[in-house]
Amino acid sequence: MQLKSLEISGFKSFADKTKIDFQAGMTGIVGPNGSGKSNIIEAIRWVLGEQAVKSLRGTKMTDVIFAGSAHRKPLNMAKVTITFDNSDHFLPLDYTEVSITRKLFRNGDSEYLINNQACRLKDITNLMVDTGLGKDSFSVISQGRVESVFNAKPEDRRSIIEDVAGVLKYKKDKQTTETK
Ligand code: ATP
Ligand code: MG
Repeated sequence: MQLKSLEISGFKSFADKTKIDFQAGMTGIVGPNGSGKSNIIEAIRWVLGEQAVKSLRGTKMTDVIFAGSAHRKPLNMAKVTITFDNSDHFLPLDYTEVSITRKLFRNGDSEYLINNQACRLKDITNLMVDTGLGKDSFSVISQGRVESVFNAKPEDRRSIIEDVAGVLKYKKDKQTTETK
């Protein structure tokens, strides 16, 4: 599986629709302070199901919607689509290309889509949970996170290892069964 592209519109500083095509190999994103590099990484985490507003540097979820600038009015919707090449069927879906979309409107309404079909947030998190790409995974390592792993309590470090090992999904399923 490979990250193919990311489309961002109305998300944080990306008022206009912006598409990034990722080529094979390594991609570096460079730019001056405040130009939106971290916003791109947050767009990836957000579309994969991030629900923790604080880790998106906001106080409420609608803070991710373009808030306007000196020359532009605020927008009413943030939309991010991430597309993976799935020709190796790493994601357990029949499609050779999988796109995931998340939309958020200023009134708080959300929409989630997998290959343009409406789905629940849970469908996205379930799809990602054992890929190592889930929202809490270590595929995205932000500044300060390395240090926090070293300083983590043993039980927290254990949950990190469980996540990496792919057993988290079974634990969650077990919890759901137990609470039923
Ligand atoms: P650095 O090199 O300092 O880490 P960066 O390239 O990572 O910078 P970001 O943190 O991604 O920059 O972008 C910050 C910019 O995004 C700020 O100018 C901020 O005003 C803008 N921004 C954040 N949220 C919104 C929003 N909802 N609407 C409009 N602009 C926003
Ligand atoms: Mg940054």
